[in-house]
Amino acid sequence: MPLRVALCPGSFDPVTNGHLDVIERAAALVETLYVTVFHNAEKAPLFTTAERLDMLRHATAHLGNVRVEAATGLLADYARARGVQVVVRGLRAVSDFEYELAMAEMNKQLNGELETLFMMTRPAYSFLSSSLVKEVARWGGDVSRLVPSYVSERLREKFARPDPDVGKA
Ligand code: ADP
Repeated sequence: MPLRVALCPGSFDPVTNGHLDVIERAAALVETLYVTVFHNAEKAPLFTTAERLDMLRHATAHLGNVRVEAATGLLADYARARGVQVVVRGLRAVSDFEYELAMAEMNKQLNGELETLFMMTRPAYSFLSSSLVKEVARWGGDVSRLVPSYVSERLREKFARPDPDVGKA
C-alpha cells in the first residue's frame, strides 16, 4: 500500500525550525500529514495547547497538505482513528535514540499496523530543542534564527512580565 497518511506528533512547546524542517520534508512524501500536539504528562508546558496550535498553524500555512490538531490519549488509537500509516519522528543526536526506540516499540505493540520512520535532523538543527529555545528567550537572548518570527514574538510576550520569584530570598 503506498504511503498516504503520516503523523508528526510532539509537544511543540513551541515549534522550532528543527521541527519545521522535519515537517516540511515529511509533507513532501505523503498526501496528508497530521501535525498533532499531544499532551505529555512528563512535561509542564510553557504555552497552552491553543497557543501551540496557533503557532503551528502559522508556521505550516504554506503547506497545503498539513493538518494541525491536538489530541489526548494514546497515539496508537489516534493513528487508527485518522488512518495514519506511519509516524515520522526527528532524530537529533544519539541521546534521542533510546527514548525513541522504546516509544516506537510500544506503539507497534499497541497498533501493529503502525510504522515509525525516523528522519535525521539537518546538522544545523541537531542541538536545537524547544527547552533550549525557552531558556534563551526567558533571559532575553536572541532566538530569531531558531524559530519562526511569529514564535519569537510569542516568546517575547510570554517572558515580558517580570518573574515574581526574582529577588526573593
Ligand atoms: P516530544 O515531547 O514528543 O519529544 P517535541 O515537540 O520535543 O515532542 O518533539 C517532537 C518531534 O520533533 C520529535 O520527534 C523530536 O525528536 C523532533 N525534534 C525536536 N527537535 C528537533 C530538531 N531540532 N530537529 C529535528 N527534529 C526535532
